[in-house]
Amino acid sequence: MSQRKQVVIIGGGFGGLNAARGLDGADVDITIVDRENHHLFQPLLYQVATSGLSPGAIAVPIRSVVGRQPNTRVVLGEALGVDLTRKEVTLSSGATLRYDWLVVAAGAKTNFFGNEHWAQHTIGLKNLRDAIQIRERVLLAFEAAEQETDDATRKRLLTFVVIGGGPTGVEMAGAISELGRTVLADEYQRIHSSDIRVILVEMATRLLTPFRPDLSASAADQLRELGVELRLGQRVTDVTAAGAVVNGELIPASLVVWASGVQPVSLAQRLGVQLTRRGQVRVDGNCAVLGHPDVFCIGDMAAFIPAGATDALPGLAPVAIQQGRYVARTIRGDLRSMARKPFVYVDKGIMATIGRSRAVVQSGVLTTSGLLAWLAWGFVHIVYLIGFRNRVMVLFEWMWAYVTYKRGTRLVTHLPRGADALPSPHALAPAPGTTGPTSSSPR
Ligand SMILES: Cc1cc2nc3c(=O)[nH]c(=O)nc-3n(C[C@H](O)[C@H](O)[C@H](O)COP(=O)(O)OP(=O)(O)OC[C@H]3O[C@@H](n4cnc5c(N)ncnc54)[C@H](O)[C@@H]3O)c2cc1C
Repeated sequence: MSQRKQVVIIGGGFGGLNAARGLDGADVDITIVDRENHHLFQPLLYQVATSGLSPGAIAVPIRSVVGRQPNTRVVLGEALGVDLTRKEVTLSSGATLRYDWLVVAAGAKTNFFGNEHWAQHTIGLKNLRDAIQIRERVLLAFEAAEQETDDATRKRLLTFVVIGGGPTGVEMAGAISELGRTVLADEYQRIHSSDIRVILVEMATRLLTPFRPDLSASAADQLRELGVELRLGQRVTDVTAAGAVVNGELIPASLVVWASGVQPVSLAQRLGVQLTRRGQVRVDGNCAVLGHPDVFCIGDMAAFIPAGATDALPGLAPVAIQQGRYVARTIRGDLRSMARKPFVYVDKGIMATIGRSRAVVQSGVLTTSGLLAWLAWGFVHIVYLIGFRNRVMVLFEWMWAYVTYKRGTRLVTHLPRGADALPSPHALAPAPGTTGPTSSSPR
């Protein structure tokens, strides 16, 4: 057993990976544990779901990111729990990892707000499996609609409901509408762009509530221009095999996408530490779990309340990235017995894209929408992507799509009734009372 101090990092997402990279060359052994073998750039997941990017463009093996860091090893596995007294992490394999410092950065999962049974009829957007499943469902719906002769069934096949008017819902609704109207409709003889219906449902009376009201209004206008039907101030009361029930009305749909929120992964509950009402881990000004200065919790899992504020920092990539870097600096300081300095978040603003040449950006007092916002959005996402190859791939795909109006990643590898069968319209949604394709998110 190495005599060097041990740092265990649970999660190779934005927070965990930045903590590991910040400890490159430090006099510690680092172990990153992740249940996936890849780091995922979640902000572009919706583009995989709508055939704009291939999965490989937004994911990179964790090993390849830290492969040249001699003090870092990667373990593919799920952390089941932590013994805070013995300072050990237990993995699903039964193995244990001893730590001197622990960084818990395991992120969030889809939140169905107590309606977990809806998960069998809707797909969240949290990992590549979700995105690929959405992509295949949309593409198969078009294939089935092309062959369908019954009007009502055809209408249902070409109706897509997105629940949640935050950035993910806005991006998904805009991208599905754009895919259907500007790319797919052209290629099918019997489908016209006016046949396609994309409905975005939001409980609040405006979209993108963290943004200023004028930007919310701009986003709504831009979505309407793309043909998206907005149901603002309306509540989803049920999701079934037939579609979504909104304000008591059943909207028959071939696909219901759940973009309504996230909650910390269940590991948070198994830590045995103080949680907030939302289930996030309470941390102090040094991102350390209350009463456990050697255990940091960062990113989406943690509730970090800045000094003088009442609300915790939002679940955003820059929060996780900055906290990851901060934790690395703090551990380096601990090694030299330096006093800890509190974490200070530098807020550079928020942005959401709506479609081709459409976006909204809010940074301090500066706001913009439309083409300029879209270019800013694209630039920031390219800069934050991990890996040169991924940046080049994404840039190329975007330029190609911009010039040709085509989407290159339209593969369907999973046919509902076997590889020789044509998709039946009825195979796209499970029969009432049966279990259909489920999202892999709620874990
Ligand atoms: C669809 C979508 C769009 C988004 N768009 C934006 C955006 O435009 N801008 C923005 O700033 N933010 C966006 N976000 C939020 C952003 O992605 C998160 O805030 C960020 O990923 C949080 O980083 P993290 O390190 O806390 O968690 P993550 O990046 O989610 O990483 C957590 C890691 O932990 C692993 N893990 C989980 N449980 C375990 C376990 N028990 N054992 C081992 N490993 C485990 C996971 O596999 C994962 O790799 C978006 C999120 C989603 C889902």
